[in-house]
Amino acid sequence: MAERKVCPSCAKGGLVPVGDIISEFGGYVFVEEGERCTACGEEFPYEGETQKTIDAARRLGVWPEPLKLYRKLSRSGRTLVLRIPTDLERQMELKDENEVAITKIGRKIVIEKEETKHGH
Ligand SMILES: [Zn+2]
Repeated sequence: MAERKVCPSCAKGGLVPVGDIISEFGGYVFVEEGERCTACGEEFPYEGETQKTIDAARRLGVWPEPLKLYRKLSRSGRTLVLRIPTDLERQMELKDENEVAITKIGRKIVIEKEETKHGH
C-alpha cells in the first residue's frame, strides 16, 4: 500500500504529482515537475527541477540574485524594531497599514506580506 504523503506546509492535504508548477522570471515562464498539496495548494518542485529553472534563468540573464541586506535591530521601549530597507519596501509595495505574517523557520525569520486583511 502506497503511503500517502502529507503536506509539510498545512499538514492537512496530501501531495499529488503534477507537471505544471509555474514560475516566472523576467517575463520567461518556467515549468517544473513536482507535487502539489490537495488542501492548501502549496507546490513542492522535485529536487533538481528548481535547479534546472535556476540554471536556465541564469543563462537567460533573468535570475534575480538573492537580495541579502543587513540591518541592526533597534529598541523602542520594550519592543525590538526591525527597519525595512526602502528598496524592499518599494519592491514589496509595503505600506504602514500592511499586515505581515512572521514565521520562524529554524534560525531564519520569514516575513510575508499579507495580501488580504484577516478577521472581521
Ligand atoms: Zn498543504
